[in-house]
Amino acid sequence: MENYVRSDLASAQGKVEVWAWIEKVRDQKSMQFVILRDRSGNLQMTIEKASKPEIAEVVSHFTQDYYVKVRGEVVPNEYVKLGKKELIPDSLEVLSKADISPIDSESSIDQRLDYRWIDLRDPKKRLIFEAQTALTQGMRNYCIEHGFIEVHCPTTIKNESESGSGVFEVKYFDKKAYLIQSPQFYKQMAIAAGFEKVFIATPIYRAEKSFTRKHATEFSGFDLEFANVSSVEDVMKVEEELLQAGLKEVNEKYGQKIKELLGVDIIVPSLPFPRVTMKEVYKILEEECDYPLDEGADLDTEAENLLSAYMMKKNNHQFFFVKDYPSDVRPFYSMHKDDEPGYSETYDLYYKDIEITSGAMREHRPDVLAKQIAEKGIDPKTMEENYINFFKYGCPPHGGFGLGLDRLTMLMLDIPTIKEAMFVFRGPDRLNP
Ligand code: ATP
Ligand code: MG
Repeated sequence: MENYVRSDLASAQGKVEVWAWIEKVRDQKSMQFVILRDRSGNLQMTIEKASKPEIAEVVSHFTQDYYVKVRGEVVPNEYVKLGKKELIPDSLEVLSKADISPIDSESSIDQRLDYRWIDLRDPKKRLIFEAQTALTQGMRNYCIEHGFIEVHCPTTIKNESESGSGVFEVKYFDKKAYLIQSPQFYKQMAIAAGFEKVFIATPIYRAEKSFTRKHATEFSGFDLEFANVSSVEDVMKVEEELLQAGLKEVNEKYGQKIKELLGVDIIVPSLPFPRVTMKEVYKILEEECDYPLDEGADLDTEAENLLSAYMMKKNNHQFFFVKDYPSDVRPFYSMHKDDEPGYSETYDLYYKDIEITSGAMREHRPDVLAKQIAEKGIDPKTMEENYINFFKYGCPPHGGFGLGLDRLTMLMLDIPTIKEAMFVFRGPDRLNP
């Protein structure tokens, strides 16, 4: 490559070879000014037409988003606004031509999603995924430092894993299979296998026609499960530490950039997170929010909003746990409370005003589990071979939680809808690109 040094745009100096996008072209009578773009930033390339007629001819055909390879020299120039330097090309090669973009800043969100790969060229949007990388790295590091084993599990399952509603059925040769609604069964199997502590990052599927800011039909789950748990508190403690570790990583790596580009403050949460029991929630809703719910009922969206506003104001904290839910509104695998009939060792975690996690201590006694399955109107026999049997040959008491990564990212960065917080959104009406 002779004496040209391969470089990104931000750190380019001296004789360089750069590979970059065309951001903008200003073609004047005797000069051309081209703004080049790569992930690191922008750099002006300046062409004097008379001295570089061949290069000028190629540049005159450029439109936005051509991709080029340039060799040349970066020289200081105090008149150049962008970094007070410019690239004087010696040679230029077009590596990819670009049609005019079908979307622009005026396009609707659905038009933009049709061309998501172009939409994502905006550095503000790329920052979402840079931040998410730091978030999962922080959480992953936490897991590994605390002795968790990462497990990869199938996304297919023979029986419907949770309630039965909202499950995608797939043809599996001459049989039926379902796509997992959570890795619940697999992670509990890892506990029965003696792994003690596991985490699973996996796609999760929900066949629900929800058109809200927080629902997708396929999303990324980050699930933990661990042994030797004696109450739901043991589970909540792990989750608050995990999230603190994740947000700390985001803040250290991208806090400033997020503030600059997105106008959002990343707040690393203090421990412990505020907690409230469902029994207290019924009281708060009635006495403080004028929104009484029947005892035993689940929280509806209005109740969630009112409770979040109340908790935020009271505690000045972006997170809060709601714990000890009525057993009726929780899945069959939750441990019921010994001392409070009708209630369970379960929780939801809220970030800002939306649920990001459900967690629980699990029921590990196969006879009790079968009874709880029957109480939900499911025939326990159908769950024997791929669930109840896990607990028949010895199994430690355990618990865990499932975290929605896309929702967490959306809330962390104050993104209005999950459609924009996901690399590629899947909803009831969207199966492409
Ligand atoms: P919601 O009541 O908000 O629909 P859920 O209680 O059905 O959620 P869980 O089964 O508890 O959800 O799933 C665990 C976590 O996975 C949720 O707290 C959330 O972060 C995420 N999650 C659940 N459903 C979706 C979805 N359809 N799209 C994106 N994330 C989801
Ligand atoms: Mg939930």
